[in-house]
Amino acid sequence: MTVTDKKSYVFQCKISETPAQVIGGKGTRITVEKDGKVYDDVIDGVTGAAVGALGWGDEDIVDVITEAAKTSTYTFPSLIGNKQSEELAKFYIDHSPKDAFASALWCCSGSEANENCMKIMYQYWLERGKTKKTKFISRDSSYHGFTIGSLSIADNARAVAFKDILLPGTQCLKMPVCYPYRFQKKGQTEAEYVQGLLDALEKLIVDNDPETIISITVETLPGSSIGTVPPPKGYLPGIRALCNKYDILMHLDEVMCGTGRSNPNGGLNCWENFMPLDQGPDLQTVGKTLGSGYVTIAGVLVSPKVKDAYVKGSNGVIGSHTYASHAFNCSVALGVQKKIIGQGLTKNIFKMGNLMGETLKKELLSKDNIVGDVRGIGGFWSLEFVKDREEKISFPPKLDIGHRFQDVCFENGINVMGMTGNYDYMTDDGDIALLAPSFIITEKDVEEIVARVVKSVDDLTAALK
Ligand code: PLP
Repeated sequence: MTVTDKKSYVFQCKISETPAQVIGGKGTRITVEKDGKVYDDVIDGVTGAAVGALGWGDEDIVDVITEAAKTSTYTFPSLIGNKQSEELAKFYIDHSPKDAFASALWCCSGSEANENCMKIMYQYWLERGKTKKTKFISRDSSYHGFTIGSLSIADNARAVAFKDILLPGTQCLKMPVCYPYRFQKKGQTEAEYVQGLLDALEKLIVDNDPETIISITVETLPGSSIGTVPPPKGYLPGIRALCNKYDILMHLDEVMCGTGRSNPNGGLNCWENFMPLDQGPDLQTVGKTLGSGYVTIAGVLVSPKVKDAYVKGSNGVIGSHTYASHAFNCSVALGVQKKIIGQGLTKNIFKMGNLMGETLKKELLSKDNIVGDVRGIGGFWSLEFVKDREEKISFPPKLDIGHRFQDVCFENGINVMGMTGNYDYMTDDGDIALLAPSFIITEKDVEEIVARVVKSVDDLTAALK
């Protein structure tokens, strides 16, 4: 007897349920069919998963796509390259701080980017004759994607589910997460908290023989794990300094937070908020807003230091994927990025996003409800829900607050991403909702987002009483 249920032909999360389906989108709004009902004029407060920088149905990008289809010819990138991928790499490098990056590899997803990055970092040490370097350091409560390699350097419920088939823990070391709301002790200053984290990292490095460590990977502004926690002052520069001291590569994962979502200088990289411009990472992975949902594209940016070692060594990256440097995808991503930068949209989202976040913080934390923290920077914010604000006690996962909040928001005309602890991306209890609107939002959109989120918090708070 077969148990196959025909409701969904797509093999994804809830296999036997009819999934909510998007019918269309225009600008900052989407129309979705859910449980037989059509929801129109829903504000896309999270643009899928922090993807849609330009919003939906952008006519200029329709033209870019048409032109790209006419002018892009597929070739296998290891044998014959293309101008489109070169131009996109040059554009990214030119819109990053001077000498931050020298080259880029383009692939199709953030997970693939991190997977590629792990290999590029390993090969970097081979190029320098250091064959003992075989260990990666990353953080507790982190998300880096869903391939075996990217799960191995992550720590979340998905990684736990697949733990027996990942790279061994002795090769993928974990340092404590930076999460002041949860772990900065009462009476401890921010500087003391940061120093404690850096001391723990240094101990991990020393205890595991620095000569064997390839890299340290950190999400600049985490998203799908602990919600958008801005790194406190000195934290990322402190990691940079430890990488320099022990000759270890620093890799920032900006797949979700990067490519214009949160940049204070009108450019692309999130780390510019937190690190001196001449002391950036050695490698950086990007994705999501790069193609803004119009094409599937992600990438690895490498610094001059990394590129030089390859050029002076074997002068070649081992291996490639069929769709690496895909001319059509690169061409469309370049069109997307040119429009974003040309129209000053990274500046707009930094300003509008901060307005949205700060207003939410003021409105939500000033009254009694289930929100314990509102945090973020630029166009990337999150709410953390607690049943006891004073003691910061989370709801039990069985109450499924993250997902319930998402549903309530939907009923109130706003799309957010709700995450429930131990189920989605977190390893611990806790419920988070992410906000990552498109870069084109106006002050009026911000007012509407705030009003709908606040109403949803009020509704869920009342329902829990
Ligand atoms: N890295 C980070 C920080 C992410 O947030 C994500 C996805 O949410 C990924 C990597 C994986 O990207 P993708 O889902 O495109 O494979």
